[in-house]
Amino acid sequence: MSRYIALSLAVILAVASAPSAQQGGALQTAAATLGAANIKTLQYTGSGANFSVGQNFSPSEPWPHVTVKNYTALINYDTGSMRAELLRESGPVMPRGGGAPFFGEQRQIQVVGGDYAWNVAAPAANAPAGAPAPMAAPQPGARVERMLALWSTPVGFVKAAMANNATTKTSGSGTEASFTVGGKYKMTGLINKQGQVEKVTTWIDHPIVGDMAVVTTYTGYKDFGGVMYPSRIVQTQDGYPSLDITIASVTANPAVNIAVPQNVPAFQPPAVRVESQKLGDGVYYLTGGTHHSLAIEMADHIVVVDTPNEETRASAVLAKAKELIPSKPIRYVITSHHHWDHLGGIRTAMDEGATIVTHQSNKAFLERVAKTPHTINPDRLAASKKGVKIQTVGDKGQLTDGKRVIELYRLTGYEHTGDMMVVYLPKEKILAEPDAFTPPAQAGAPMIPPALVYAKALNDNIQRLKLDVQVITPLHGNRTTDVAELAKVASAAGTR
Ligand SMILES: [Zn+2]
Repeated sequence: MSRYIALSLAVILAVASAPSAQQGGALQTAAATLGAANIKTLQYTGSGANFSVGQNFSPSEPWPHVTVKNYTALINYDTGSMRAELLRESGPVMPRGGGAPFFGEQRQIQVVGGDYAWNVAAPAANAPAGAPAPMAAPQPGARVERMLALWSTPVGFVKAAMANNATTKTSGSGTEASFTVGGKYKMTGLINKQGQVEKVTTWIDHPIVGDMAVVTTYTGYKDFGGVMYPSRIVQTQDGYPSLDITIASVTANPAVNIAVPQNVPAFQPPAVRVESQKLGDGVYYLTGGTHHSLAIEMADHIVVVDTPNEETRASAVLAKAKELIPSKPIRYVITSHHHWDHLGGIRTAMDEGATIVTHQSNKAFLERVAKTPHTINPDRLAASKKGVKIQTVGDKGQLTDGKRVIELYRLTGYEHTGDMMVVYLPKEKILAEPDAFTPPAQAGAPMIPPALVYAKALNDNIQRLKLDVQVITPLHGNRTTDVAELAKVASAAGTR
C-alpha cells in the first residue's frame, strides 16, 4: 500500500514540477505521430452523412440525416485554404425534419481561402464542352466556420496550437491544449498519450444559440499509406451530430492550389430590404429577402409573424411593421416553427419586448435561447438582458382584440416539422405558411417529389380544418398563391 502511494506522489510531483516540458511535449509528440512538420497539403476521402443543422423535427431531436456518398477534403495548410466536396443523395421523401429539399444526387463544393469563403456550383449536366464554369457564390458568413474546420483537423490543430502559443494542461490520461485564433476564436483540443488528437472544440457565433460549440472527435487512428490519420470523424453542432465520415483514403502532400475566384473579394452583400404588400385592411406581407413575414394591425398593438434569418433582418422587419402601423407597440411575435432559418431573429423579438407565441414543444428551447451567451458577437438581447415572455399554443390557438381574429393551426402529418403553425385570418381568408408550399416562380413549372409531398400535407390539413382560404402567403418565394394551385400540385404527389 505504502509503495503504491509513493509511486502516485512521484508521478504527481513530476507533473507539477515540470508542467511545460511534459505538456508542451504532448504537442511535440502529436506533431511527430501525425507527421505535422512534413505535411503541407492533405487530401482525404470517405463517405457517411451530414446533417441539416437547425432543422430537426422537434427541438429535442437530432439534426436530420442526409447520406453523403462521397466526401473529399483538400487542404493546403501553408495557404490556409480548404475545399470540401460532398456528393449527397436523397430519395423522393426527405428524412424526417427540415433542410432544403432536393431529389437524387446533389454535389456541394465548399471552399475557404484566407479571408474568403465561397461555394462552387457543379457545372450543369447539359453544359456544352468548354462552357465557362459557373460563377463562385461568395459565402462570407461561412468563413469563420470553415476556417475553424480547417484548423480543427488533427494536423491543422497541432500546427495552429504551436503557432499560437497554446497553453496546455493535463486532462484525464492526456493533455488539453487551448489557444485563440483570429483574435477571438477559442480552440481546445485533447491529445492522447499516443500523440493522437482525439477531440477539438471550437465555438462559432450563431444568432439563436449564441456561442455554439462545434466538437469534432477523431477515432480509429491507423496508418493510411504512411500517414497516421483517424478512420472516423464525427462532428457535432449544438450537441447533435452535424457530420459523420468514415475515411477510406488519405494522401499527404498532393498538389492543392486553391485560388480565390475574382468575383469573391469584390462581393458586397446586398443591403437588407423589406418590401410590403397590403393584403387587406391592416394586414401586410413583408418580403424582399429569402424569408417573409406578416405584420397585422390590432386595436392597440401589432402582431408580427416570423422574425427570420438573423438580427439585421429581424430589426428591419420590426421597423417596417412599426412604419406601416405607426404609434402601436409590437406586442406579439408568432413563430411559425422552430427551424433556425425562420427563428433567426427571435432574440431581437424578445429584446423588442414582444410575447413570443409558439407551439408548446418549443417552450424549453426558447427559454434556453433567451439566455445563451453571445460573447463572440453580442446582440441586442445580450446587452439588454431582458426576460422572455412566451405564450404557448397546442394544436390550435387564437389571438384577438375583440374584432380581428388570428387563428393558428398546427399541421399534422407533416414530416418537415412537428410544430408548424399556419396562420389563418378567417375574415380576410388569408393563410400564411412557411416551407410547406413555395409555388414555383412560374405556375405549372415542375416541382421535385419531396416538395410535392409537403404540398399534399398542407392541402390535406386545409381540408381537414375546413379553412376557407382565398390567398396563401408563402413565407418563401416570389408570389402569393391560392388553394386551386396548391390542390393541383398536391394531386401530383398523390399519383406517384
Ligand atoms: Zn422549416
